[in-house]
Amino acid sequence: MGISLHSSPIKKAITKSLKAECKSLKEKNVFPSLKVILVGQNPASIIYTNNKKKYCEKIGAQCEIINLDEHISQDLFLKVIEKINHDPFVDGCIIQLPLPKQLAHLNVGKLIKKEKDIDGFHPENLYSVLSNQIDSTSFVSCTPKGILTLLLENQIELSGKHVAVVGRSLIVGKPLSMLLTNHNATVTLCHSKTKNLRELTKQCDIIVAAIGQAKFIDETYLSANKNQIIIDVGMNTDTNGQLCGDVDYDKVFDHVQAITPVPGGVGPMTIVSLAQNLLQASKNRLSL
Ligand code: NAP
Repeated sequence: MGISLHSSPIKKAITKSLKAECKSLKEKNVFPSLKVILVGQNPASIIYTNNKKKYCEKIGAQCEIINLDEHISQDLFLKVIEKINHDPFVDGCIIQLPLPKQLAHLNVGKLIKKEKDIDGFHPENLYSVLSNQIDSTSFVSCTPKGILTLLLENQIELSGKHVAVVGRSLIVGKPLSMLLTNHNATVTLCHSKTKNLRELTKQCDIIVAAIGQAKFIDETYLSANKNQIIIDVGMNTDTNGQLCGDVDYDKVFDHVQAITPVPGGVGPMTIVSLAQNLLQASKNRLSL
C-alpha cells in the first residue's frame, strides 16, 4: 500500500515564511509586485492566472493580471512587455501560455528580462540550471523547482537514484532532468519516441510523469517490488470531466511506495515556487 505525497503540509510551512518575508520587505518599502500577461480567454489559463493572483495576495504581494485581446498585434504585445521590463516597481512578470497563433512563434524566454523572469525561461536562467550555478540572481522554472522542493522536504534520496522523467518540454521535463542531475540522480529523459518505455520505467527508483495524457501511466509501467516513487505532474480532464493526472492513481496506488495526488500534489508546489521566485526578485531589487 502506497503513501500519498500531499503537498499541503509543505505549502503551509512555506506560505508562513513567505508571508513573513513579504511583511519584512514592505517594512523596507519594497512592495513585491507581479504582472501576469494573459492573452485571450482560454478557460484553463484564466483558472491558472487567478490561482496565481490569489496566492500572491495571500502572502501579501501585489499581482495584476493584464488581460490582452486575443487578436492583439505583435507590436502592441511587445510594447506592453517592454513597459513592464522598464517599470522599476515591478519585480516579476510571467506570460501565461499558450499564446494565440499570431504570437506563438515568439521566443517567450527572451521577452521578459532576466531579473524579472520568475518563470525561469530566460536563456541565462536556464543556463544557471544547466551549469548547476544557481544563485540568488537566477530563477528556476516553477514546476521543476516545486517538484525538487517536494522531494527534498519528504527526505526522498536522489543521489545515485535512477529517475525516469517522462516528457521533455522546456517548462517541465528538460529543466527537471537537469535539476535532478545536479542532485546526483541518474536521469533518463523519455518522450513519445522512446522505445520500450515500460521496461525502462520498471527499472527506475522514481518516475516523473509530465506527458499531458490522462491516466497514461498504470501499473504495467511499474516494478513488481512496490518500492517506486511517482511524481505526477499532469493536469488533465478525465472522461467524467474530473481533474486527473498523467498517472492512473487508483490503479497504481497499491503498487508504489509513494505517489503525488492530483489535485494536491505538484500543482500547489508550482504556485508556491512562483511566489518564492517573486520574493527573491523583490529582495534583489532591495539590494540594487
Ligand atoms: P507538453 O509540452 O505537451 O509535453 C509533453 C511531453 O510528453 C512531450 O515531451 C511528449 O513527447 C511526451 N509524450 C507525449 N506522449 C507520450 C507518450 N505516449 N510516451 C512518452 N512520452 C510522451 O506538456 P507539458 O507542458 O510538459 O505538460 C505536461 C503535463 O503537465 C500536462 O498535463 C500539463 O497540464 C501538466 N503541467 C502541470 C503543471 C503543474 O503545475 N502541475 C505545470 C506544467 C504542466 P514528444 O516531445 O516526443 O512530443
